[in-house]
Parts: sequence; C-alpha cells; structure tokens
Amino acid sequence: MIKLENISKTYKVFCREKGLRAAFKSLFKRKYKTIEALKNVSFEVEEGEIVGYIGPNGAGKSTTIKIMTGIISPTSGTCLINGLNPVKDRKKYVSQIGAVFGQRANLAWDVPVIDSYELLRDIYKIPNSEYEKNLQNLTEKLDLAELLHLPIRQMSLGQRMRCEIAGALLHSPKILFLDEPTIGLDSISKLKVREFIKQMNKETKLTVILTTHDMNDIDALTNRIILIGKGQKLYDGSFEKIKEEYSKSVLVKVQMAEVYDKVEIKGYETLSVNGIEVELKNLPETTFSYVKLVQELEKKYKIVDISTTALELEEVIYNLYKEYEL
Ligand code: ADP
Ligand code: MG
Repeated sequence: MIKLENISKTYKVFCREKGLRAAFKSLFKRKYKTIEALKNVSFEVEEGEIVGYIGPNGAGKSTTIKIMTGIISPTSGTCLINGLNPVKDRKKYVSQIGAVFGQRANLAWDVPVIDSYELLRDIYKIPNSEYEKNLQNLTEKLDLAELLHLPIRQMSLGQRMRCEIAGALLHSPKILFLDEPTIGLDSISKLKVREFIKQMNKETKLTVILTTHDMNDIDALTNRIILIGKGQKLYDGSFEKIKEEYSKSVLVKVQMAEVYDKVEIKGYETLSVNGIEVELKNLPETTFSYVKLVQELEKKYKIVDISTTALELEEVIYNLYKEYEL
C-alpha cells in the first residue's frame, strides 16, 4: 500500500555572513548550505497497519510525512502510495489520504469548525449522505457536539486536535498521517485521541502512520515502530522487542536496617543513599537477579526490605537513542 524506496531529501538553505558588507556581497554571490534531511530511507506499510514513526528532534520524521502527503518532493528515490505518486498524481491522491500536523492548524482559526467542515465537503466533493454519516460518527466518537459551532481560536489544544482529526477523516480516506498528534495534549485528550485511532483502525481498516515523542502512544496503538535518526532508518520492527532489550535495567529500592554512608554492590550503580533508603540500578552488563542481589547485599549490609520497578518507557527510549548515538 505504502512503498518508499531509497528516499533522500536535501534542503538547500541560504546562509549569509553577518554584516552589511556581507549582505551586499550576497546579492551577487549566494552561499548555500545543504542539509541532508533523509538518506536512502525505504519501508513498506500494508493496509490496516498502524506504524509508529519515531526518532529525536530533527531526525527527519516530518520530512518523511511531508513527502508521503505530497507536500514536498523527495530529492531522489520513489514514493508510491496505492500506486500513486503523491506529488504527480496529487489530484487523485488527496482524496485517499488525511493528514494532521500537531504543530500547525489546518482548520480556519476564526470561523466555526462546522463551516470549515462544509468547505472541506465542497473541496473533496463528498456526497451529502457520506458527509452527514461521517460527521455524525466523528462527532460522536470524538465528542465534538459542543465544539462544532466554536472557532478553533477559542479551543484548548486537546479540543482543537480532536476537531482537526475529524476534519482529516470527513472524506473517508484510507490512510491517515499524523505528525505529533498528541504533542502538548493533556492526558485525557491523549487517551481520547489514542482510543479513537485504535477504534477507527479496527472498524474501517484505516492505515495510520504517526510520529510521536510519547512512547505511551506507541504502546497503546501498535507494535510496529520505525526508528529514524539523522535522516537514516535505524530500526523497523517490534516495539515489544525494543522494550525487552532496553528495559533490562531494573530500579531497586532497598531499605537498610541501619544508616550506611556508602553502599557499593558489584554490578550495580548506587543512585542515592538517603538515610536507610538506598536506590540501586543494575549496570548494563549485569542481568538483574533478585536472589543474587539479596545475597550480595547481605554479605555487607543489614537489610530490611527490597522492592523493584522496571524502567519507564521514557527510559527505554533514552537507552535506545543512546545506543544509536542519537
Ligand atoms: P523531525 O520532524 O524528525 O523533527 P524534520 O523532518 O522536521 O525532523 O527535519 C529534518 C532536518 O531537516 C532537520 O535538520 C531540519 O532542520 C531540516 N529541515 C526541515 N525542514 C527544512 C526546510 N524547509 N528547510 C531547511 N531545512 C529543513
Ligand atoms: Mg517534526
């Protein structure tokens, strides 16, 4: 359904030295710098899949989404979606996709949302019956009834995002591109957006590509991630596997029977010593073992209690980025 082959994208940016003289000179001789935003990125996505496209800031996520939505052309490589070229077959293509960019409003700022929706109906030539059906369905699922007559300007970010997502789906596209849909949202809105995406994917086989910084989005929505860093694809596969691999460290809280100035256990890093409360974490080369740790502790200290917590998803991703030097 979606097929990217050796996609590269180079941006040319005009750079100017400081000062008037340089400004004058640059009128005649412009200096350019090139930024390789994407380097030979290839992947395929099947119909009905949800793919999490992740990577640190500046990795090239938005550039990829813009290429897939036909907003920009790649410098080289081919992008075919349902057999169409997003730029060259633009007219036919736009009816098949929906896109939401979390950092930028698609809907008009100052007019009631319903007016923007009606404009979209006309632009996409959505038959009235389909429009009414979709509007009703989306209003219900995204809880929009109270919002339809308000302009975006008066909404919270979460409300705005729900309206944006509905707007992107009014014409029943097969694919939905979401670039940071949950950025800055409160946790209730995040949950609503996630729940909605999941439901639409299930009910209508909607294919979803989303970029996000929030690993909980991924955790809730899909097991397939594509990791991109410095413009290159680094990993394409199971998120479960990544979690297993990178959450090997375990945070251990130990309650001592008495106060020790220093606590040192081989294979562990001492994170903090606070009275009788001590926090340890196993070093990457150490596989955590409860029994072994207790043995080691008891050799040197008197302990009362020990409890463990697996690392947060955030930390999993931190470890992952560190491993890839991102
Ligand atoms: P991400 O969405 O992963 O944060 P982007 O795709 O926005 O990353 O950007 C990738 C790289 O391309 C960054 O170094 C960014 O500064 C650069 N870039 C993005 N858009 C432009 C542009 N229009 N002109 C010049 N450089 C750009
Ligand atoms: Mg981006």
